[in-house]
Amino acid sequence: MKVPFNKPFVTGKEQDYIGDVIACKKLSGNGKYTKLCQNWFKEKFNAKHCLLTTSCTDALEMSSILADIQPGDEVIIPTYTFVSAANAFVLRGAKIVFVDSLAEHPNLDHTLLEELITEKTKAIVVVHYAGIACDMDAIMAIANKYDLVVIEDAAQAIGAKYKNKYLGTIGHFGAYSFHATKNIHCGEGGLLLVNDDKHIRRSEIIWEKGTNRAAFVRGEVDKYSWVDVGSSFLPSELNAAFLWAQLEFFESIFEKRIEIWNSYFENLTKLNTPVLPNYSTNNGHIFYIVCENLKHRIDISSYLKAHSIQAYFHFLSLHSSPYMNGCTLGSFPNADRFESCLLRLPIYNSMTPEEVQFVAQKLLSYKPNTKLT
Ligand SMILES: *Cc1c(COP(=O)(O)O)cnc(C)c1O
Repeated sequence: MKVPFNKPFVTGKEQDYIGDVIACKKLSGNGKYTKLCQNWFKEKFNAKHCLLTTSCTDALEMSSILADIQPGDEVIIPTYTFVSAANAFVLRGAKIVFVDSLAEHPNLDHTLLEELITEKTKAIVVVHYAGIACDMDAIMAIANKYDLVVIEDAAQAIGAKYKNKYLGTIGHFGAYSFHATKNIHCGEGGLLLVNDDKHIRRSEIIWEKGTNRAAFVRGEVDKYSWVDVGSSFLPSELNAAFLWAQLEFFESIFEKRIEIWNSYFENLTKLNTPVLPNYSTNNGHIFYIVCENLKHRIDISSYLKAHSIQAYFHFLSLHSSPYMNGCTLGSFPNADRFESCLLRLPIYNSMTPEEVQFVAQKLLSYKPNTKLT
C-alpha cells in the first residue's frame, strides 16, 4: 500500500461549471461564479464583506495596503509560519517583529505580544495553524488597547471556529487559501474577508487595479478611473467556477477530514498528538505528531518512507531564514522545537479507513534504530 501525503480532491462538478463559463464567454473576473462563491461565504460564515483573490498571499497583500502599512511600521508575526504572512508587509516597507509559538501548540503565544509592542507597531498577524484557533479574545483585547490592526491568516482554517465565530471573521481582516493543498481548493486561489465597514469601499478599489470599476458597474459613477493604488487581485471565472464546485460539497469534505483526523487521534494516543484548546473547533486540515527531537523525526519519516508513506515536516521558522540574514533578535525556543520535531501525516479526502489504519499501525510499530530495508 502506498500512501501519499496529499491528493487534491475533485468533486466531479468542476468540469460542468468550467464548461458553463466557456459557453457563456464570460471568463474574466467578478462574474457569476465569483459572486456565487462570495455570497456563499457571506451566508455560511456570516462574513460582512469578502473578495475572491488569486491566492491567500494576494489577500494578505491587500490587507497590508488596507491597513495602510507605511515604511518603518512594525508588524508582529509568528515566526513559525508561511513566508506570505511576512512578505505582504515587507513589500510595504514594514519591519517584521517575530513572536514565538506556544509551548503546547505552534500558534503564537499571545502572552508575549504586549512586550513586543512599540510606538511603531501597526498590526498583528495571527496564523491559525492546522485550522486550530489562536486565543482571539485575548488578542483582540490587546489590539484594542494599543489601537492595532489584526489580520487573521486563516489560510488553513476554513470552517473552523473560535468559540461560536468562524476563523477569519474576527480580526479586522481575514484571509483564506484555496491552494491545491488546502481543504477546499481551486488549484490556486484565496479570499479576503473585510470585517470592518470602514475598509469595504477601498477594498473593492484595490482589488480592481486601483479603479472605481465596482462603483461604475453598480451605476454609481458614469465612468471608471484611477482613484487609488491597487493591483489585479481578482481571479478569472474559470477558477471561481472550480471553487464553486468545491463549495457545494463543503459539508461532506469537512466531515470526511474530521473523520480521518479523529481516527488518527484515537489510534495514536500513545504519541504526542495535537492539543486542541477548548475555545477552538477543528477542520481536519493537518494531523501531526511532535517527535522527541530532530533525529527522531528524521528516523520516523525515513521509516514511514520505507513503507511507502509520505510524512512531512512543516515550516522553517522565519526568524532564522536566509532572508533575515541573522538579523533577528530574541530567541524562539517553541518555534524551534516545532520546526525540528513536528511531523505531518497523510490526510486527504479520498483517504480510506484502511490507509489511515496502515499509517497508524506503522507508526505504532516503529522502534528506534529500526533497520530500513
Ligand atoms: C497555504 C498558506 C498560505 C499561502 O496560501 P496561497 O493561497 O498559496 O497564497 C499562507 N499562509 C499559510 C499559513 C498557509 O498555510
